[in-house]
Amino acid sequence: MKRFNGFRKARLVSMDKFPFFRTMLARLQFFECHQVKTVAIDKHSRVYVNVVFWETLTLEEQAAVIVHELQHVFRKHFARALGLSLDKTAMNICMDCEINDSPMLRKMLPKNGAFPGNYGWDAGLMFEEYAQLWRKNPPQEPEDPQVGSGDCGSGATGQPEDYELPSPADGGPGLDETQTEISITQTAKDIQQHVQEHGRGRISASLVEHAKAILAPPKISWQSQLRAFARNAAERVRGQGDYSYSQRSRFQPMGCGVVYPGGITPIPEVSILVDTSASMGTSDLEKLLPEAQECLRVSAGSSGKVCICDTKVHSLKTITNVRDIPLVGRGGTDLRVGFEAISKLRPRPDILVVFTDGGTSWPKEALRGTRTIVALCGRWKESPDSVPSWCKVVDIPNN
Ligand SMILES: [Zn+2]
Repeated sequence: MKRFNGFRKARLVSMDKFPFFRTMLARLQFFECHQVKTVAIDKHSRVYVNVVFWETLTLEEQAAVIVHELQHVFRKHFARALGLSLDKTAMNICMDCEINDSPMLRKMLPKNGAFPGNYGWDAGLMFEEYAQLWRKNPPQEPEDPQVGSGDCGSGATGQPEDYELPSPADGGPGLDETQTEISITQTAKDIQQHVQEHGRGRISASLVEHAKAILAPPKISWQSQLRAFARNAAERVRGQGDYSYSQRSRFQPMGCGVVYPGGITPIPEVSILVDTSASMGTSDLEKLLPEAQECLRVSAGSSGKVCICDTKVHSLKTITNVRDIPLVGRGGTDLRVGFEAISKLRPRPDILVVFTDGGTSWPKEALRGTRTIVALCGRWKESPDSVPSWCKVVDIPNN
């Protein structure tokens, strides 16, 4: 496929009008392709141009078309499209409405592009919401599709087209998945910086929201975090396995008179310390503890003793089901007494999970041989920074 070079002036205009898209604009590669009706893109940032159509556009329209196409990749339409039950053209039009709903693009794009108002829809929605509106009440599709109205390639729809070049993994040009991610993240940062320095101005709200979502830290549930910490601690304990003659080796040769010692993998002892001071809500604990116990059972194995403590230890015993725990206490908080009681247990727990709001004094150091996980919970919970550095912290959000 022949490279297309007639894009340079238009790209300069795009960089000038949309400086926050410079990273992505610089990485686009253009190819002449008569199989596309207008202009299309794939997820490797390769733009396929119908040259006859291209030459009917003004320079400003060409610049807007490039910015339109790259936003299919920036907004990851190719991934968001998967599993959506709507035909390809309709889905593409809904995506175009999400992109074109920007004051600047609206001004620059060819007038017969896809805009939410053309279909009687409100502005500012996500493409999935437009898709829902389409399904409820399908509008008439335009007879003469223009750019940004239903033919933007697999970078939008996620469905590969026959004309596409081989992927970078197969030796084709363009950006691979990692390079695309890097370029999308950089663009999201540039959008945020632009908004901080110049205000939102003519950038659409959905674009700013999208940039924010890309840069937001991934959400990990407290249950996953607790499972991961417990699994990690348990693996360390199991890694301290030993050899014993009480267990015959799996590699004992047949008929051999000598008994080989077998490997013993210790099962970690997991204990729980529950802060029942007045600042902790019992209803929260009643809900959290069974879930937490299930996480620990799955990831670490055996459960040990449960200690109920405010300023004194009210109960310290083995409990199979945490629903049976009497949540008594309701005084002030000093979990150091709970830690001290647990330090006297034999065997001492390998893993200790502490449920508290953190409003307590802490022991100066960890119990020897015990890995401590603090599950910070409750309406008045302290900041995770207040927990000693020898603990792993799971910050449980309030409902
Ligand atoms: Zn499009």
